[in-house]
Amino acid sequence: MCFLHVHQVFVRQLMNIRYTQAKSILSPQRRGFLTAGERPYTHSLSWATGCQLGALYCGAYCYAQMLPNWHFGRQEGEAWGEALIIKENAPELLERQLSRARKRHDMRIFMSPVTDPYQPIERKLRLTRRCLAVFARYDDLDLLLIQTRAPAVLDDLEWIGAIPYAWLGMTIETDRHNLPYGPTKSQVERRLAAVKRAVEFGLSVQIAVSPCLPYSESFAERLLETGAQRIVIDTFAVGDGSRGARTGKSPFAALADYDWRDDEIAVSLYQQLSEFHAAVEWSGAGFAGIAGRR
Ligand code: SF4
Repeated sequence: MCFLHVHQVFVRQLMNIRYTQAKSILSPQRRGFLTAGERPYTHSLSWATGCQLGALYCGAYCYAQMLPNWHFGRQEGEAWGEALIIKENAPELLERQLSRARKRHDMRIFMSPVTDPYQPIERKLRLTRRCLAVFARYDDLDLLLIQTRAPAVLDDLEWIGAIPYAWLGMTIETDRHNLPYGPTKSQVERRLAAVKRAVEFGLSVQIAVSPCLPYSESFAERLLETGAQRIVIDTFAVGDGSRGARTGKSPFAALADYDWRDDEIAVSLYQQLSEFHAAVEWSGAGFAGIAGRR
């Protein structure tokens, strides 16, 4: 058992949770990754600083732990995945900001770039669900992308389905479950199954192979079998916002047994999917390329 998996066992005991009343919940996006495509996001929505899933494998390369919000929000000695600062008034703020927005029909919102909207505490707090209920009351936005790694999103299929401009984004970085820095077999299978279920339910679904980790020969086929309408592939070097510098400082860089700076495996997956005529997109341009309703 590797260190990350040992760490995962203790996730609940180590998590420090604090609550705060925030002043704003929609963060304008003017530059950076979420604006890198033809259809840039105008706002992001993250109801927490920190992420409970940070104690899992993805915490080893998560760029959110290198951003100022986390450094100002955490207390001394708290590592990524050990603390969560929750904006408990997120749904009320969202209602206020949407009701006052002048150009709601232009709004394209990414939920959430620096935390996971379906991390375990969502089952207790239902902050994501309450935000979805707010979005459902405003039917004139351009796009809401709900981006998660957690199959717990299946709890909310009906809530997402009630928003005419919503897309579900599910991160599936690989189908391999024997990597010292990757998901378990159950995590892989449950995410693939969650995408299938969401598509069958009638949602618009995008798979984010982000970042693309080493995969098996049947990965492209398995992605296509889910029925997801779009697939976006991203790499450490292109997608970490610093040409690999952030990843180079992360715990993942010490664990990796391959050259993660080389985009070759991601390019090869992109080519395989293209040969199947799949709607496959690349990195930031792909994330910020979903057609909205405008
Ligand atoms: S789920 Fe996302 S935000 Fe949370 S630790 Fe993993 S990569 Fe970071």
